[in-house]
Amino acid sequence: MERVWLSSPHMGTKEFEYVADAFSTNWVAPLGPNVDAFENQLTEYLGVTGAVTLSSGTAAIHLALKILGVGSGDIVLCQSFTFAASAFPISYCDAIPVFIDSEQETWNMDPLLLEIAIKDAIAKGKKPAAILLVHLYGMPAKMTPILSIATQYEIPVIEDAAEALGSFYEHKACGSFGEIGILSFNGNKIITTSGGGALVSNKEAILQRVRYLSAQAKEPAPYYLHKEIGYNYRMSNICAGIGRGQMEVLPERINRRREIFDSYKKEFSSIEGIQFLEEPQGSFSNRWLTTVLFDHQIFGKNKNEEVRVSLEKQHIESRPLWKPLHQQPVFEACKSYLNGVSDELFANGLCLPSGSNMTAEIHNKVIAHIKKIIS
Ligand SMILES: *Cc1c(COP(=O)(O)O)cnc(C)c1O
Repeated sequence: MERVWLSSPHMGTKEFEYVADAFSTNWVAPLGPNVDAFENQLTEYLGVTGAVTLSSGTAAIHLALKILGVGSGDIVLCQSFTFAASAFPISYCDAIPVFIDSEQETWNMDPLLLEIAIKDAIAKGKKPAAILLVHLYGMPAKMTPILSIATQYEIPVIEDAAEALGSFYEHKACGSFGEIGILSFNGNKIITTSGGGALVSNKEAILQRVRYLSAQAKEPAPYYLHKEIGYNYRMSNICAGIGRGQMEVLPERINRRREIFDSYKKEFSSIEGIQFLEEPQGSFSNRWLTTVLFDHQIFGKNKNEEVRVSLEKQHIESRPLWKPLHQQPVFEACKSYLNGVSDELFANGLCLPSGSNMTAEIHNKVIAHIKKIIS
């Protein structure tokens, strides 16, 4: 049996054409018509002032921090329940991540803990330099309370929307709220460019800085003149061709992912103790990955791992939820503000195969197998 992936690339019909255009016109470079077109599509889709395509989501976060002036010894308040790539760039800047646990409803940054952490830091004479929140698994974070705290204390917000392209909060696109939003087009995301990312913003000055820093910080002079340290972080016109085609099918991809979520939910509705992450009023999730929680009072401990191992034997990929960053050995020494939520999620949760290219037939097989293990 062929392997069933958690989330694999799903090409539409035009990607190859745009890549071929790049070859036939010799725009095989980190700029060109595909880059321009892809950036325009993102700008329009997200309703932002501009988008700059980059080599990865990680690079986008790195530049976001740089542009906000985050430097050595600065504190960045970062969601704990996320992929390590959200926080690695904080370390690239020689800054200090302080981890904030999640709330129950969206699994994202808890506004109550956020405010406590800000007050603590200010009391110690060190106001945090940035807030880095995540819309994990495509579920929008609680933007209203978080933005109100950020405004009150005048701390800029970076939105890690790597998993949330196509998610909306109060009809506004995830990634478009903060000072800076970042996206990822890695191979496992809802759309892909094989590898890539983008930085979006509503501030022209920020967008100009990104274009400058991501292309080696070249000054306008006939020779190479540099007054600042630059980065080689631009996206290739080849990759952008893939992204351009992918943007045309994004609405279909979101529909399919949401359909997959709905049918898991429907099929498991009769089983007591399986919980799904519901959309709060006003939130729209792209349902990048369907996640379930196994109630340990009903199933006992480690049901998630038992299901994962059993699926693996059938060549079906599933995965534990993100291991919170406050539990990661590499961030052991970092301060964190915890409430037990992300620890619980990691202990009991599982990501199920959610790729938009999964056929109904395969999906039914996955569902049937899970039902068999659980009953
Ligand atoms: C994928 C991902 C990133 C990193 O994006 P890359 O393009 O792989 O560098 C950052 N944050 C989150 C939450 C992600 O899922």
